[in-house]
Amino acid sequence: SEERSLNFLEEIVEEDISAGKHGGRVLTRFPPEPNGYLHIGHAKSICLNFGLAKRYGGKTNLRFDDTNPVKEDVAYVDSIKEDVKWLGFEWAQELYASDYFDKLYEFAVALIKKGLAYVDDSTAEEIAKQKGTPTEPGTPNQYRSRSVDENLQLFADMKAGKYPDGAKVLRAKADLASPNMHLRDPLMYRIKHAHHHRTGHAWCIYPMYDFAHGQSDAIEQITHSICTLEFVPHRALYEWFIEQLELFPSRQYEFARLNLNYTVMSKRKLLQLVEEGHVEDWDDPRMPTISGLRRRGYTPHSIRDFCERIGVAKRENMIDVSLLEFCIREDLNKTAWRRMAVLDPVKLVITNYPEGQTDTLFGENNPEVEGGEGGREIPFSRELWIEREDFMEEPLKKFFRLGVGLSVRLKNAYIITCNEFVKDSEGNVAEIHCTYIPESKSGSDTSGIHVKGTIHWVSIPHAKTAEIRLYDRLFRVEDPSSEDGDFKEYLNPDSLNIIKGYIEPDLANAVAGKGYQFIRKGYFSLDSKHSSAEKLVFNRTVTLKDGWSQ
Ligand code: ATP
Ligand code: MG
Ligand code: MG
Repeated sequence: SEERSLNFLEEIVEEDISAGKHGGRVLTRFPPEPNGYLHIGHAKSICLNFGLAKRYGGKTNLRFDDTNPVKEDVAYVDSIKEDVKWLGFEWAQELYASDYFDKLYEFAVALIKKGLAYVDDSTAEEIAKQKGTPTEPGTPNQYRSRSVDENLQLFADMKAGKYPDGAKVLRAKADLASPNMHLRDPLMYRIKHAHHHRTGHAWCIYPMYDFAHGQSDAIEQITHSICTLEFVPHRALYEWFIEQLELFPSRQYEFARLNLNYTVMSKRKLLQLVEEGHVEDWDDPRMPTISGLRRRGYTPHSIRDFCERIGVAKRENMIDVSLLEFCIREDLNKTAWRRMAVLDPVKLVITNYPEGQTDTLFGENNPEVEGGEGGREIPFSRELWIEREDFMEEPLKKFFRLGVGLSVRLKNAYIITCNEFVKDSEGNVAEIHCTYIPESKSGSDTSGIHVKGTIHWVSIPHAKTAEIRLYDRLFRVEDPSSEDGDFKEYLNPDSLNIIKGYIEPDLANAVAGKGYQFIRKGYFSLDSKHSSAEKLVFNRTVTLKDGWSQ
């Protein structure tokens, strides 16, 4: 990845460094609003902000953009910190826009004193109307010419709680004729008698995003303030406030937000899925949240790799979720421990193996690394579970698994040959009878016999049962938000399929956060929420191959 060409943000930073701007210092920030859990789009922004600073010897602040008291909560703050850490990043300082409320108030007073802000009594509708249209300039109202003293008094009264919600706002006196609508006397403060998760009832006026964000950047002396493209039209206002207040000249740069298909990525929509019970919670393994992906079995490395591979774009695009799946497969192929589990069982009896006897076999943990990372003992006996699909009553020509007369290797065990099968009263195959070749034991095979197929199995008397959760796309269409009607109409009714499986006994030692490859079946991980010693629950992280388009 060091080989790739610079993205446009890296180019800007390199130019700034070589021009000696800010003494070569780089300070970025990641500014989540604590009104929901972080999703994979935020991961993109995190990797970008932290990655850029790291690459150029700089630092990154974690700043909670908590200027909207109503939707914010400490629980969200905690989850955001956990997720950023889990992704592998360390922030320089943990900061809150609400810590700047006093400072921001002073800035507002300074603008009033310069004749650059005024208290407006108009309603939201009146203000919107007076702003004009992109082709028609706005019109000043009677409040725009209030005196500095009157504005100072009214703003102090707003702060003191003398007015109800919505009665007055503080607006910048910028440019009502600007072609940029954001400069047409934007709101700076509104009245909201609400409890704030950090400042309690200390304030009943709250700064708007545009007045809080740039000023917070300037207070922290952020050098490169990176945000998504929808803020392009806000940039002029960002610069206007900083200029008028003569603050540290933080600069805003915009990149294209990450869009992923077959999901939704706005916190508002994700919250709806949670509140209306379409998913279990924010960390449901089907959710595109960091906590959902973690529970599903994604690794921090795979998510960082994904963010690196999609690069930094200046135009909106839609990324195929199969790229995310590719990244986790790549990682788990190298790190997951191999285990055996049978998800659709049929009984196999080895007729020449003594009843009641148990053999202890060995299987290495990870064939992808030198030494295999050790291994585990696997009990073997006369009766085994195998996958129903590994047997055919009338085998097709290139079916290298089981059927009468066919031989396969049992993984980590012996070569067996199928002799006959037994059906139940409904005509389903109930038992498969085989004989094994004692000299063909894996690791010490002297049989000289070669077979094409290898299948996995679990010893019936030793098997443990587990609940296995198989996941599919959360939505049945690529872009649910762009379809007609409510996006929830496009939920995939089959996104979760819960089955019972038989697992080899060592899987009782599985730990959440570690990846396991159920040989030939996919990558799985222990569910951190529902699994217990009494009831093991595994989530399928991803299938072994991309089988979705077939
Ligand atoms: P949402 O629209 O999902 O609610 P948001 O932008 O309101 O997201 P914030 O908490 O304000 O959420 O976002 C924190 C940072 O993450 C911002 O800088 C924002 O631009 C960035 N971000 C949010 N969503 C994406 C995305 N899909 N791709 C890249 N960056 C994103
Ligand atoms: Mg936001
Ligand atoms: Mg939002």
